[in-house]
This record gives sequence, C-alpha cells and structure tokens, in this order.
Amino acid sequence: MNTTTDISVIIPIYNEEHNIDELYKRLKAALNEVTQQYELIFVNDGSADHSLQKLITLTQQDQRVFYINLSRNFGHQVAVSAGLDYCKSKTTVIIDADLQDPPELIPKLYAEHSKGFDVVYAKRISRDGETFMKKATSKLFYRILQKITSFDIPLDVGDFRLLDKKVVEALREMPEQNKFLRGQIAWLGFKQTFVEFKREPRKYGESGYSYGKMFSLAFDAVTGFSDKPLLLVSRLGFLISLVSFFVILFAIFSHFVLKETITGWTSLIISSMFIGGIQLLSIGVIGEYISRISTNVKNRPLYVISDSNIEKENK
Ligand code: UDP
Ligand code: MG
Repeated sequence: MNTTTDISVIIPIYNEEHNIDELYKRLKAALNEVTQQYELIFVNDGSADHSLQKLITLTQQDQRVFYINLSRNFGHQVAVSAGLDYCKSKTTVIIDADLQDPPELIPKLYAEHSKGFDVVYAKRISRDGETFMKKATSKLFYRILQKITSFDIPLDVGDFRLLDKKVVEALREMPEQNKFLRGQIAWLGFKQTFVEFKREPRKYGESGYSYGKMFSLAFDAVTGFSDKPLLLVSRLGFLISLVSFFVILFAIFSHFVLKETITGWTSLIISSMFIGGIQLLSIGVIGEYISRISTNVKNRPLYVISDSNIEKENK
C-alpha cells in the first residue's frame, strides 16, 4: 500500500469479538461508495476475548486490512494514537468498533473533506442506549472544559471524525503522553466542520470505558489544556486567608471591646476541617499536574506493539 490510498480507517478494539464481522462488512460497503483505495487498521488494545483471532483472519482474507496488536491494554486514546502513527492515506477516519458510530456516515465525512475541510467531525444529535449518568456527566464535563480552555472544543462530539493527512502529521508531532485527541485536534485548529448523526446504542458487548477510565480521561483533558485549576487553588487560598483575617480581627475586637471571648469546640473543629479539606484538595489538584509532568519526563514509549502486519511510512 502506498501514499496514494484515499482513506485509512482506524478502529480501536477492546473486547469487540461480536462486533468485528458486522463492522467490517459495513465499513467495506460504506468505503466502496467512495473509493477502492482504502486501508482498515484495527488496533487490538489488549482484548481478553477472541478479537485478535478474528482480526488476523480478516487480514488473511483482505489485503486492505491491517492489524496492530498492542502488548496489553493501553486505553482507547493510546490505541487510536498507535493507529495514527501507522496510517498512510490522504485522509484518516477514526471510528469506534461497537457500531455506535455508523460507518455509513463516512461518505458524508469524505464529501466535506472534498469541499476543503481538514477536520470533519461527526456531531451526535442524539445518544440512544447510554445511561443518564454517562450523558449527564459528559455534558457537564464538556461545558466546564469549554469554559476553562482558551480554544473551542466542539460539544457533543466523540472521536468519530475524518482528518486530513496534514492534521495526522501534526498530531504525530504532539509529544504528550496523556492523550486527549479531541482536545489536541481542536487545539491544532485547521479548517474544521461537522456532520450530524444519531448515535446508536452499542451493538454487542459492554462499554470498555469504566468510570475510572472516564475520570482519568477527564483529568487528562483538563490538565492537558488548562491551568485554570491551579489558578483557582491559589485564589481559593487567598480568599480563605482573607476571610480568616477578618475573623481574627473580629475575635480581637470581641475580646477587648465587647469583653466576650469567642469560645467553642464546634467552631474550632469546623474551621480546621474546612481548611484541612481545602488543603488536601489543593494538593490533589497540584498532584494531578505533577503526576503528568512525571509521566512525560520519563518519556517512555506511548505503547508497545506485540505483533502487527503493517509498517510505517518512509521505512
Ligand atoms: N476501547 C479501547 N481500549 C479501551 C477501551 C475501549 O480500544 O481500553 C475501544 C473500544 O473497543 C471501542 C472504542 O474504544 O472501539 C470506544 O469504547 P467504548 O464503546 O467501550 O466506549 P463508550 O462508547 O462506552 O464511551
Ligand atoms: Mg461505545
């Protein structure tokens, strides 16, 4: 395969054995509407089921199918990043494997690219089959994120999108270990547009995004793109010092002028617990930044490949 391919599709796979066949069929049908020149890159992110065997079978049947088998579960964002390092086409589509992102939308994404857009993301106008908690937390999170970052991260958008080659190359140059691709792509700029779609429920299997993974993605997003939490912490410290200064003044005033000494175990405990809580919270916020500095300083490889049937460009 050479650089004349039109579309690379990157599909991260974590325990998706029951989705792979239908996904492959639908991807093939959708891509054939646009071009014969495409490649499918499946990144197996440490699946514990038979996903890998299924993928290898596909690669044996179809020359346009490639697989990258990571040495363990590195997480969705890293799996996609691995695919981005290997894709070779003029445009690249990132799509979930669970058929929540309909492959049939790809021709529409590609059509927008032909109009001159470098990033075409798929914007969900509805999300069926997802829990209220998931929708509510993600809605709240993206609104907060938009407030605290200095560039626009589009709302109601996942990683389902089409990227021009120059965007992919720019992404490869971004060195952060804590990937938050939606934010990185928004940060990069370029000519962006969107196509709307209805998000379907996951076809088979379970979501690989536990609340733990969602939280760490959220922290990666915030620490990667905003220093506001740090500012907030120092301002909070300043505010509390200011308040306590007035409380001290009042206590002195009360003791010497009103001749009433403020006593009480309750006020003491409440105030020290309050301060203790704020301090721990602040240290925690700083800790989130420091832990990411430490990860980045170690400069380990982002992922490790166990085996694959694909090679990088210019090799
Ligand atoms: N995924 C992955 N590694 C993980 C978790 C998920 O590669 O650790 C893949 C998964 O197979 C799917 C995509 O990332 O193709 C989105 O994951 P999922 O559908 O579980 O997330 P949700 O839609 O529930 O947010
Ligand atoms: Mg899903």
